[in-house]
Amino acid sequence: MAHALFAPDCLTAAGWQRDVLLTWDAEGTLTAVAPDQAPPAGTPIAHGPVIPGMANLHSHAFQRAMAGLAEHRASSNDTFWTWRETMYHLVERLTPEAIGAIATHLYIELLKHGYTGVAEFHYLHNQPDGTAYAEDAELALRIAHAARSSGIACTLLPVLYAWGGFGARPLQGGQRRFGASVTRLARIAECARGAGVRIGLAPHSVRAVDAMLLQEAVAALDELAPRAPIHIHASEQLKEVEECLATHGTTPIDWITEIAPVDDRWCFIHATHITPGEAHKLIARGALAGLCPSTEANLGDGIFPFAAWWHDGGRFGIGGDSHVSVSAFEELRLLETVQRLTHRRRNVTTQEALPSTASNLWTAAAAGGGQALGGARGAIGVGAPADLVVLDGQDVDLQGLGGMAALAVAMFSSATNRVRDVAVAGRWLIEARHHAGEADAARSYREALAALRG
Ligand SMILES: [Zn+2]
Repeated sequence: MAHALFAPDCLTAAGWQRDVLLTWDAEGTLTAVAPDQAPPAGTPIAHGPVIPGMANLHSHAFQRAMAGLAEHRASSNDTFWTWRETMYHLVERLTPEAIGAIATHLYIELLKHGYTGVAEFHYLHNQPDGTAYAEDAELALRIAHAARSSGIACTLLPVLYAWGGFGARPLQGGQRRFGASVTRLARIAECARGAGVRIGLAPHSVRAVDAMLLQEAVAALDELAPRAPIHIHASEQLKEVEECLATHGTTPIDWITEIAPVDDRWCFIHATHITPGEAHKLIARGALAGLCPSTEANLGDGIFPFAAWWHDGGRFGIGGDSHVSVSAFEELRLLETVQRLTHRRRNVTTQEALPSTASNLWTAAAAGGGQALGGARGAIGVGAPADLVVLDGQDVDLQGLGGMAALAVAMFSSATNRVRDVAVAGRWLIEARHHAGEADAARSYREALAALRG
């Protein structure tokens, strides 16, 4: 059977099941997920427990090129805002070729670490001086091409970044590469879709858009792709919350829910300083919290009230954001660990009927990630793409373990990568820990870094 896999241990939409025969059609859509089967002759047998592919719901791919390079005192009070200066310095020097090379290499790394999808929050539109490229969608097309050559499922979210700060401050310095009208963003989105990626929209943040533009952009997206996902950074920084209160008389998430029809197509990135009232509203509307644990920790943002969010049934997914981590396992470990430190108790992401922390985290984040990318991804079930991650059953630490325990060891025992094989929509992209394009991607990435760091 060409489009099939026999999984002795599989985390399906119905939970952990044994001896599961997975079959999919020529498009890579799962047609059967049948437990308690005998392995049919000729069907490949998974080399370890099979779990659903994870979507990385928040990526600024180019920032991978500076991961680890801002860990150096720049002032007596280093914060997100001083980090942003370092990031803008990189932005000013990126060529289209470099952006493509960084993204291709990154996406292959993401695949190797359990991600099968990525939502690219794409805000580089212009040349360094702020003028458009001859090809309007030049940089978005570099991302689309990187996604295609790596094979990762990509949803490109062109970013509306109209203002340099609250009070309609003009874009300055590195920000000049971010500006684009709503009409141009729609053109960029259409071009990207033509190049084979899904599309959505990302109004950057409450500091970078105003009410009228936000509504205009959502209307433009609805014409192009009804019900496509909308992502926005919100309440990452206390300074942003304070400025929003001073400007609009309300907090960022409340401001957005007042002016936009927030529902389950919306994803609030970070939402670190969300208020209990805001959380209540978002949960009731089925909106997502897009959590980026490694980046939020790296930037000293603060701690999202995840224990309460989980307890109240809030939907969430994880993002690599600045890509100080490329591992889905590491993001989820950090999410849980920080809650343990905060609340001084263990196994926060559990309920009486759902006692496995790692399985709960993976299942919920994969479902949320699928929702964030648009389309039917995020679980191993009939009708979903066969996005499959196979843990390495030969890894010595997984010896003698069933799927549930193996996933817990993969997530909580160390930073060692336990992913062996990865398929996106039924196509095996990582086999025995390797990607067919990894050597070429590494060479181009090295060249791009040499130029940037030279
Ligand atoms: Zn971000």
